[in-house]
Amino acid sequence: MAKITEAAMSSKSLRGIVRVSALAGLAVGGLALAQQAPDRGIVHVGGDLYRAHNNAHNTVFLVTSEGIVVSDPINRDFAEWLQGELASMYDVPVRVVAYSHFHWDHASGGEVFADTAEVVGHETMPAALALPSADTPLSDAAAGLDANGNGQIEESEASGNLAGQFALIDADGDGMLTGAEIARGPVSEVHPPSTLYSDTRTITLGGKSVELIHIAADHSPDMTVLRFPDEDAVFFVDIISVKRLPFMDFPGLTSVDSLVETIQAVEAIDFSVAVGGHGDIGTKGDVADHRRYIEELRDAVAAGMADGQSLEELQASITMDAYSEWGSFNWLPNNIAGMYRILGSGD
Ligand SMILES: [Zn+2]
Repeated sequence: MAKITEAAMSSKSLRGIVRVSALAGLAVGGLALAQQAPDRGIVHVGGDLYRAHNNAHNTVFLVTSEGIVVSDPINRDFAEWLQGELASMYDVPVRVVAYSHFHWDHASGGEVFADTAEVVGHETMPAALALPSADTPLSDAAAGLDANGNGQIEESEASGNLAGQFALIDADGDGMLTGAEIARGPVSEVHPPSTLYSDTRTITLGGKSVELIHIAADHSPDMTVLRFPDEDAVFFVDIISVKRLPFMDFPGLTSVDSLVETIQAVEAIDFSVAVGGHGDIGTKGDVADHRRYIEELRDAVAAGMADGQSLEELQASITMDAYSEWGSFNWLPNNIAGMYRILGSGD
């Protein structure tokens, strides 16, 4: 098996970026010209475990003598890039893709590995990916864009996320978004799992193992934490970030208690190295710090609300200084707004 140095990795990564940027320009024309080439790279986590990133999204892969286990494929372009990198470094194929959860921005592109890999997801993943019934009406926001009133959104009517993710939402590729397609979300490039697991599953390959652990999480029903026993490491996505603020205003979250319980369930797993789908590589202590940040933010927002402070007053008075070195600290006002929304709705 080829062994490669950090320097070799970064020069490969640079070539990858150039290649991908050229392809993206061809594929989607003018739109891509305004976008930056994705930042990509691979770092060694420990043992046979590596982390690869595509801009702010991370995945991990474990190299064994009989094949490679990859977690999230992230998206098709990235998966093709990663496949090329792996082929140049190792003489074994990707044998397993193990999803963290079904969301499009982590789970797209698995098809790239499907020829050689078993694609594994939690048993609730197929239902999460299923198209709802054909008579599902347009959401209110989408209905507002339906200028010709035909009950579907054509590309000329789409704006915002519906425009940016049009092809990913358009499940049947007919150039129109139905209510069902919009309700399902931008998951057209999420390759369905070929095998499912329920509570836990241990995958063994080439004398190494990976444990898939289902974690109850509001973020998605199929949330899976991967544990690498030989590396004493876990990989988790979206439920915890290492040394980074929680995303924006906790979209979709309705219970802080339930988020705290999810993080505590991860803390109960045996590991010392923590790799997040976003943020840095860290330790179990960083997972506890992330929970503590959420608890302190909750307590500060709750205290201010009890004093009758407005959201604007809370955003001016809550500084969370102890966390100012964390990534995405500029999301603090959004974090406060999300907490205000959740606590105000009776959590
Ligand atoms: Zn997610």
